[in-house]
Amino acid sequence: MVASYGYAVKEAKVPLVPFKFERREPRDLDVVIEITHCGVCHSDIHQVRNEWGNSMFPMVPGHEIVGKVVRVGSKVSKFKVGDLAAVGCLVDSCRTCVNCKDGLEQYCQGGMIGTYNSFERDGKTPTYGGYSNNIVVDEAFTLKVPQNLDVARVAPLLCAGITTYSPMRHWGVTKGQKVGVVGLGGLGHMGVKFARAFGAHVVCFTTSPQKKADALRLGAHEVVLSKNADEMQQHVGSFDFILDTVSAPHDLNAMLGLLKRDGTLCLVGIPDKDPSIAAFNLVFGRRSLAGSLIGGLPETQEMLDFCSKHEIMSDIELIPIQQINEAYERMLKSDVKYRFVIDMSTLKPV
Ligand code: NAP
Ligand code: ZN
Ligand code: ZN
Repeated sequence: MVASYGYAVKEAKVPLVPFKFERREPRDLDVVIEITHCGVCHSDIHQVRNEWGNSMFPMVPGHEIVGKVVRVGSKVSKFKVGDLAAVGCLVDSCRTCVNCKDGLEQYCQGGMIGTYNSFERDGKTPTYGGYSNNIVVDEAFTLKVPQNLDVARVAPLLCAGITTYSPMRHWGVTKGQKVGVVGLGGLGHMGVKFARAFGAHVVCFTTSPQKKADALRLGAHEVVLSKNADEMQQHVGSFDFILDTVSAPHDLNAMLGLLKRDGTLCLVGIPDKDPSIAAFNLVFGRRSLAGSLIGGLPETQEMLDFCSKHEIMSDIELIPIQQINEAYERMLKSDVKYRFVIDMSTLKPV
């Protein structure tokens, strides 16, 4: 077994505290990664607080992981000791179903194995995430980290990056389109960057007036205060695609009304309460309401390589792990610019 330590919650709605645990004995195809940075996703908060009703405790959150390979199994071919490696939201899947075969392991029919808050394929070994000193992962579920990017700013690409990149690719966001990104947080700021990089006319929807200047700096052509009815009215019926990254319940009907005929509103945010939809908003205009979950391994590597080529990284606030509980409180107030990343060198052995 591999001795590990990190930060965990032992039940819902309590602060994270130092925690000691063990990871599985590395197998032939496993790499052991010493984690240098881990991003802080709003999904960590939802799960730590059991807002989705599926939490298992103790829970070590964290699924935006980068670090250095410190050990490789005898059959590992992708890495050698000393290489940079990354891990995102999933660490295994059945590998045989049609979705796995298509490289869409996140939609595995047998259920993907989450980086934390999951059981391994043996059905009994819990998985623990990246708010920790190390992780043991099959090389098939690791990513290569581009050499030309700042590793701390790469970490959020493993979830916030791929979760916004994948739907924009799937729905074909491209030059000449008008694309909206709702919510300027961790996911939203990456959505703005990707939509801009794909050549679209980008409109950022925010509830935070103080984020306007940043939204423009990050790549938006226009910023709309979603609570201002007059500003919203000016965009009715004009969008090809809108990506909704909002973490809390909010009015989707107002967003659907902004789509053109045949436009799509894609949800990636997962609030703890289900939305109410007016059928009229879909039927009139043949509009679609859709959703998207992270991305598979091949597309995650594609996204990292795209970021390398275009020098796209997350805008981050680097924090010591001792500030994690305070960081959660700030995220809940939409106060993060625009992703917290934990500097894992601050983690002390338990
Ligand atoms: P985040 O950094 O906290 O950003 C969420 C943003 O939503 C906030 O910055 C805020 O933006 C906006 N917002 C918050 N409360 C709102 C409200 N009541 N009404 C309207 N807007 C509000 O969170 P994140 O890490 O980007 O995650 C966002 C959501 O995506 C979470 O639900 C998370 O679980 C989910 N997620 C899904 C996937 C997937 O695969 N589908 C992957 C990762 C995360 P403004 O200040 O600009 O309004
Ligand atoms: Zn995430
Ligand atoms: Zn599968």
